[in-house]
Amino acid sequence: EGYCSPSGPIESTHCLYETVESLNKKLFPTIHELVSYPFFKHYKVDLYKECPFWHENGFCMNRNCGVEEANEDDIPEKWRAKALSEIKVSSAGDEGVSGCYFKEQDFCYVEDDADQNGQYIDLTLNPERFTGYAGDSAHNVWRAIYEENCFGLSEASLSSSSSSEKTTKIADTVLGAGGISKSNDGQVPGWGFSKLSEGWGTEMVKHPSAASASEVELCEEKKVYYRVVSGLHASISIHICADYLDQSTGEWSPNLECFIQRLATHPERLSNVYFNAVLLLRAVARAAPYLRAYDIATAPTIGLGVKSGRESDRLSKQRFNEILDLASQDEMNKGFDEGDFFRSEDAPILKEQFKTHFRNVSRIMDCVGCDKCRLWGKLQVSGIGTALKILFELDDKALDPKINPDLLQRSEVVALFNTLHRISESLAAVEEFRQIYAAHQKEE
Ligand code: FAD
Repeated sequence: EGYCSPSGPIESTHCLYETVESLNKKLFPTIHELVSYPFFKHYKVDLYKECPFWHENGFCMNRNCGVEEANEDDIPEKWRAKALSEIKVSSAGDEGVSGCYFKEQDFCYVEDDADQNGQYIDLTLNPERFTGYAGDSAHNVWRAIYEENCFGLSEASLSSSSSSEKTTKIADTVLGAGGISKSNDGQVPGWGFSKLSEGWGTEMVKHPSAASASEVELCEEKKVYYRVVSGLHASISIHICADYLDQSTGEWSPNLECFIQRLATHPERLSNVYFNAVLLLRAVARAAPYLRAYDIATAPTIGLGVKSGRESDRLSKQRFNEILDLASQDEMNKGFDEGDFFRSEDAPILKEQFKTHFRNVSRIMDCVGCDKCRLWGKLQVSGIGTALKILFELDDKALDPKINPDLLQRSEVVALFNTLHRISESLAAVEEFRQIYAAHQKEE
């Protein structure tokens, strides 16, 4: 029994995976509905900033890379009015890269309804899926993001491929009955297969025997940076494989081979997706008292849409509260304890370093050469940045809606919940791939 009441960080327990999976069965349909309501589906973002780090000319001309903007008439009047009353000059407080500024507490650049350069995007019209964006441009971005880590492991190189025999064996372990939470040697996923997941240098820090002594002694904060980034990368890969375009037939469908190659043979990547789920849920739980008081209504006050708008507001508020309740369940709060981080003597320095690195990730996103990939990349970095701010920067007093009603901007709330939706959808897709794999095995 003691084994199944996790109290430490996510990697020290098996059963947290099962807890997250069982919670996701309720979370996914609820949050999937939530993000279709007007408050959550409209995101204002500036997609056309220059890449501040290198000259990027690998722009993706593929139709699937394009972004469909929202219809201006669908944008609730009150956001436009608010934006007009507080027009933001985006270079104020510039930290050296034009067009970027950060508030002291922020872990990333926050897109803003009041930013004049941004465009409103209807996220539901732009699903995250295969776009065909790949090659040097994509690899440069991922490499730059991994090199932003604090580990000093900068000798990243593209991974060597694994033999098909090993691939099948590992895929069996991850996709077989019981899924990720039960590996054949009883190890926690991500700790048994480091040799097969060499690549970028960084992945091997997960395995004590493969890492040098100094790497093993990575502090928790440094591990968090790596896990967050790898989890985001893995979640994007899951979406690519789950909604894949067969270029010869023009059909969209899940691609099992893609999932095996990119995810199932690298269980630690999957475990980092679970890590992100816990981190985001923990942030939502912590901010729940503040979020319950947040105004997510969008119904117009006059005109034809008043009645339907009110009904949509009622439903979105209901789903929103259900998600806050789910995140606040006791078991979830044991998976990740923010109190374990930024506690040591070096805490203030580490926190500043962490912020600097994570802020750089939000700038690196401007170098992604595919509009749709950039959209979801920026949104998810912002969602994770908001979660980190809630967990590491704000005390309970700051989160009191009466004391601090304007603590989180609309764009931060939208990014936080859409990022949780991305991760939740990834976990649902993993479940689907398990079933596809089982059916496939039966046929053979
Ligand atoms: P990549 O995914 O490019 O990975 C490069 C190397 O990183 C791998 O060889 C491996 O060594 C290492 N690696 C891979 N995954 C992990 C992990 N989880 N943790 C640690 N190390 C890892 N493409 C789309 O089709 N649709 C999208 O929406 C999309 N969004 C993107 C968003 C961003 C921000 C970026 C940078 C790229 C995006 N791409 C998207 C491109 C996509 O991520 C891949 O780069 C592309 O599909 C090529 O894949 P690959 O197999 O070469 O490996």
